[in-house]
Amino acid sequence: MRLQNKVAIITGSATGIGQGIAARFASEGAMVVVDYVGKPGTADQTLNLIKQAGGKAIAIESDVSNPVQVQQMIDGTIKAFGKLDIFVNNAGIEYKHPFTEFPLEQVQKIIAVNLIGPFLCCQAAARQMIKQGNGGRLINISSVHEDLPMPTNAAYCATKGALRMLTRTIAVELAAHQITVNNIGPGAIFTPIDADVEANPDLEKALMAEIPLGRWGKPQDIAGMATFLASEDGAYCTGATFFVDGGMMRQAGSL
Ligand code: NAD
Repeated sequence: MRLQNKVAIITGSATGIGQGIAARFASEGAMVVVDYVGKPGTADQTLNLIKQAGGKAIAIESDVSNPVQVQQMIDGTIKAFGKLDIFVNNAGIEYKHPFTEFPLEQVQKIIAVNLIGPFLCCQAAARQMIKQGNGGRLINISSVHEDLPMPTNAAYCATKGALRMLTRTIAVELAAHQITVNNIGPGAIFTPIDADVEANPDLEKALMAEIPLGRWGKPQDIAGMATFLASEDGAYCTGATFFVDGGMMRQAGSL
């Protein structure tokens, strides 16, 4: 058990990569807060996975782009578990359009969730960790697209590129408090966010050709890296991006 008695919040963990991280953290002994948006019951699948495996978790509804709800999530965590050790910014969205046709309201929504969200969450989590005085871990789920361009996905790529510099900057600022800040850059992970590619065999074939290991990644692949960064083994890592991408960053381009 690498996260025994640690308390972790994972945003957007009702599905996909966040669900994989929440389940893995709980199996490593952490008490987990499953953040979600949507109807009551949205987080039940993740909660049941954790509880059936003997882990501890609660669900808190919080839109990461809303500062009041973000603070309520931190307060709810302290009320339930008494402290906060690890915060994973996983929530993210994407809409794809040719650049010249990208609707402004969708650009603003992507920025609100993918950039303002991690900014607010890192800020609120860091304030709590500084108050506790024992350091902490901030882990941001970025993307290979913090570096790699992706045509028709300009707003998403811009937010992930910005997340790279947010992480580098606050890692230096928070180091004095023994709070580490790192990004994980997933490649193509089989989750609901990639529904358009998963549903199109030609697109999927072209994507697989860009991945040296020749397969989709799984949420568990990302959860392994998140566990490393959250555990004692990751204590000396800060301000970096760790790509988990089947070698995709070493190829020429991206879909
Ligand atoms: P997903 O759609 O399953 O997960 C995203 C989650 O974020 C959903 O549960 C959604 O409800 C939640 N969410 C959306 N808006 C929110 C908000 N305002 N507040 C709180 N939660 C919100 O997709 P995923 O692939 O698991 O994506 C998780 C993260 O991984 C995202 O940041 C995404 O950019 C990143 N990522 C995914 C891939 C991939 O191939 N799947 C690749 C690179 C990066």
